[in-house]
Amino acid sequence: MKANIKKIAVLTSGGDAPGMNAAVRAVVRSSVYYNLDVYGIYKGYDGLINGDIEQLQVRSVSNILSRGGTFLLSARSDEFRTKEGRAKAYKNFKANDLDALVVIGGDGSFTGADVFSQEYDVPVLGIPGTIDNDLAGTDFTIGYDTACNTATEAIDKIRDTASSHERLFFVEVMGRDAGFIAVNSGISGGAVAMLLPEHNWGIDDLIRRLQRGASSEKASNIVIVAEGCKLGSAYDIAAKVKTQLDYFDIRVTVLGHLQRGGSPTTSDRVLASRLGVAAVEGLLNGQSNVMVGVVNSNVVYTPINEAVKTIKKIDAEEFRIAKILSI
Ligand code: ATP
Repeated sequence: MKANIKKIAVLTSGGDAPGMNAAVRAVVRSSVYYNLDVYGIYKGYDGLINGDIEQLQVRSVSNILSRGGTFLLSARSDEFRTKEGRAKAYKNFKANDLDALVVIGGDGSFTGADVFSQEYDVPVLGIPGTIDNDLAGTDFTIGYDTACNTATEAIDKIRDTASSHERLFFVEVMGRDAGFIAVNSGISGGAVAMLLPEHNWGIDDLIRRLQRGASSEKASNIVIVAEGCKLGSAYDIAAKVKTQLDYFDIRVTVLGHLQRGGSPTTSDRVLASRLGVAAVEGLLNGQSNVMVGVVNSNVVYTPINEAVKTIKKIDAEEFRIAKILSI
């Protein structure tokens, strides 16, 4: 082990994601395993600014592996975006004699970690915890698999009622900037179309797709709309389609925050456990200002700014498959 690290702190920040607890547990237990002192910071960067910090023990993280949310609580901290806020955060960091910071969150949280690390030369290590899966440097982020399963389960239920009444359903899923949940749950839920922030589909393209289904007596139609779709919200799109295809009985369901909750899937628990251990081992091996991820089943460390700035692309092959199967 190369780095002289004795005390580390961990926080969860930004949007919560199922599996964050499993990641905190892995950070705490692996720290104890390597004889480090480990501290939990409550409410994200706000907790660092306000000194809401306490030492965690191996049993502080009992019975959290299966729980959604984050027992450390999360926050969006406007104060941390200011120099003054980060100065307060650094004061508390030093006051607690901390040597390194583990940040579990999404791209915003990592941008904050990067700025803090540059300003104060603090070793930071990011663990990707967001349902959006929009971070480069890892095949999957913690929470994404659970969110996709939740969306699929909801789509299955909607399909039952859609088939009984020959309805057209628009189901809005989360994804302001990225359509990963939309594509994945769309394929597994058998959607007729997926409307993503990344794509430039027009209403006419969608109308053509729906007409094709109607001409071959498709019994139920489910269109998945990612939150950030350029055509508008699921309600906007449904209204536009209604003006052109009045024979459809159209309904809209917005899945919203239920996609963030629930017990993490096995995949998310295993990913979170792997990444938590790899974060602590990375810090001990001198890694700093990196995000830990899993690519092709291997643990990799990617500079945080690269993970944030590189745009992770939707898998074109998955989209191609979805198109073939939607006939
Ligand atoms: P999700 O992907 O689930 O939304 P996130 O980590 O991207 O999660 P954000 O709200 O974007 O969530 O960011 C979380 C917090 O990170 C912000 O509230 C802020 O405290 C900090 N942060 C974001 N950008 C910056 C920045 N440029 N400088 C300093 N801090 C930042």
